[in-house]
Order: sequence, then C-alpha cells, then structure tokens
Amino acid sequence: MGMDRQRYPPNWAEISRAARERAGWRCQWCGAAQGEERVSTAGKRYQVVLTVAHLGTPFPDGRPADKRDKQDCRPENLAALCQRCHLRYDIDEHVEHARQTRWRKQREAQLEAGQLLLFE
Ligand SMILES: [Zn+2]
Repeated sequence: MGMDRQRYPPNWAEISRAARERAGWRCQWCGAAQGEERVSTAGKRYQVVLTVAHLGTPFPDGRPADKRDKQDCRPENLAALCQRCHLRYDIDEHVEHARQTRWRKQREAQLEAGQLLLFE
C-alpha cells in the first residue's frame, strides 16, 4: 500500500502505535488479532497486520472532517484495521487516486504532443 509520508504528522509512528494499543491489537471492525493467520480469497495464507485508518469523524461542533486529512489524529478519528478492512475502507480513495493519475498522464501526453508541435 503506497503511503505518502509527507501527508502524515512527523510522530505518526507513535500515534499509530497508540491507536493500535487502544484497540487491544485487534481490528476494530472485524476483531482479527495482530499476527493472526488468515487465508485470503485467493487461498493465500497471510498474517494480519493492523494499520491505522483516518475515518473522517465529524468535529464535536458538527464541522465535517476530511478522511484524507492525515494530520487529523483525534483518537475518535482513528481506527486500527486489518488489511482487509482497511483496503475496503480506502477503496474509494484508491479509485480516486487512480483516476487522478490517469488524468495527469493524459495531460502530460497532451503537453508533450503540444511541445512537439511547437518545435516542428
Ligand atoms: Zn478487519
């Protein structure tokens, strides 16, 4: 899972560890324990590794939060999740990222084509 560390606070490792400790080292959604062996849908054995997701939990005053804001480390905004739950949760973000990458590549190709035309 590619993760852009620039978007995270410098002490993310500590924050993330504290969140997993609070969760008792279990996935907060499906209950899988850190290190537990599981079998993927493809039949492959793997160990559960908990990672911490940003939920986008609204602020107490009702302001909406942005789940893409990785600086928002309020405990209620974080959840320790297994790979399966985290991927499921982030899937819309992955789709959006893929869409943006495609768009950027198209733009770059157009720009290159434009430059080539300029030098003809
Ligand atoms: Zn889970």
